[in-house]
Amino acid sequence: MTHACRPAREDGLLRLKTFVPRAGSAYAKSRNFDLGSDDRSNVSVLSPYLRHRLIGEDEVVRAVLSAHRISAADKFIQEVCWRTYWKGWLEQRPSVWSDFLAELERDQDALREVPDMATAHAAAIAGETGIEAFDAWAKELITTGYVHNHARMWFASIWMFTLKLPWTLGANFFYRNLLDGDPASNTLSWRWVAGLHTQGKHYVARAENIRTYTEGRFDPAGQLNEAPDPLDGSEAPPATRLKTPMSVPPGEPIVLLVNEDDLTPERWPIDAAQVKGVALLPTDTSHPGLAEHVLAFRTAAIADTAARAERFFGCPVMSLATAEPDGAIALCRAQGVEKLVTAQVPVGPSRETYDAFVEKLGGSGIAAMEVRRDWDSAFWPYARAGFFKVKERIPETLERLGLM
Ligand SMILES: Cc1cc2nc3c(=O)[nH]c(=O)nc-3n(C[C@H](O)[C@H](O)[C@H](O)COP(=O)(O)OP(=O)(O)OC[C@H]3O[C@@H](n4cnc5c(N)ncnc54)[C@H](O)[C@@H]3O)c2cc1C
Repeated sequence: MTHACRPAREDGLLRLKTFVPRAGSAYAKSRNFDLGSDDRSNVSVLSPYLRHRLIGEDEVVRAVLSAHRISAADKFIQEVCWRTYWKGWLEQRPSVWSDFLAELERDQDALREVPDMATAHAAAIAGETGIEAFDAWAKELITTGYVHNHARMWFASIWMFTLKLPWTLGANFFYRNLLDGDPASNTLSWRWVAGLHTQGKHYVARAENIRTYTEGRFDPAGQLNEAPDPLDGSEAPPATRLKTPMSVPPGEPIVLLVNEDDLTPERWPIDAAQVKGVALLPTDTSHPGLAEHVLAFRTAAIADTAARAERFFGCPVMSLATAEPDGAIALCRAQGVEKLVTAQVPVGPSRETYDAFVEKLGGSGIAAMEVRRDWDSAFWPYARAGFFKVKERIPETLERLGLM
């Protein structure tokens, strides 16, 4: 089975429909096996769609619960909620993202100054370390944009503890190449493997575990550092308060501003009748070095969204060539609208781009506002400490959201 992802909502929905029968106990039993890139039947490969909200977490959970009891699908639903947990956690600690970027820059400088590190890094990202499993995953990442969850854990662990490379460089390699590359899930998962998220608790890749869960495809016996110390790092800052979600005043005409973090404006918590125009930001290239396949996926996903928005809202839809606000301002003026509405922009490159965009609206008479999805509003307040606080609230929260 191929897992090539086509960047369209329809394909995400089809993939979901096909996966639903396997989301129950079959998933719980088999999800940890990395069966190789030709067989991803034990996992959903929905992450590129969820990452860009071409499909929503609520849609996924609703579909799964229409076919399984929550007791059978709890593992799968928990995994979906890991994404929500990471997003909510970073939203409440935005400095963890800016600290990551600053540390990444220092580590990139070190690469230029320390030849041995540069050689080891070049071998790692080319898949030429001599550790067969690691090399295969590096190549899978750069050719397909997808790596199985367990392999991501092994890969990150080997990167830090066996190859002794800085975690930020590994996180950046993933972020630039994954179709689901996400500032929260990726950065925080790397920190988790390092022992920086739960201080002192790191994830150690072991040859025997790799042999078992790759069904013997790989066996790096004797090649891994299986007794490393966790990385040292400062404690994460305390959680900040989440902003109170806003809602669009009833009856006020609005123009939607869509960015690649939430590509289903037809499902935003707004009244479609108020929408007089839709402006779509282009793919955000502010993070340097995004792979061609990532840019192509995002660009096509945005084009798919423009086509859907046109059909759904039946109003003018404009694809902006740059993140400058002139086009959106012109659209608002042409439609007699003074408010631009966007779905909450998460911490990461989009946030930085959006904040700059809003600043440049100053003096135009156009105001910007963000609306938050019910899913995020329901779960994020629990994402302040460990995952457990989210996990224990899953059934009651799904009930509150009307999903079970
Ligand atoms: C080092 C490392 C880096 C990662 N980077 C990313 C990333 O950039 N973007 C990303 O979406 N996920 C990331 N993950 C989490 C996870 O590996 C992927 O979400 C998952 O492998 C996607 O495959 P799937 O859709 O087949 O998952 P499934 O097993 O089918 O799970 C369903 C959905 O749940 C979510 N999910 C599953 N596991 C996790 C998890 N551990 N953390 C967060 N969400 C999860 C995803 O949205 C996924 O599509 C990372 C994990 C590690 C260990």
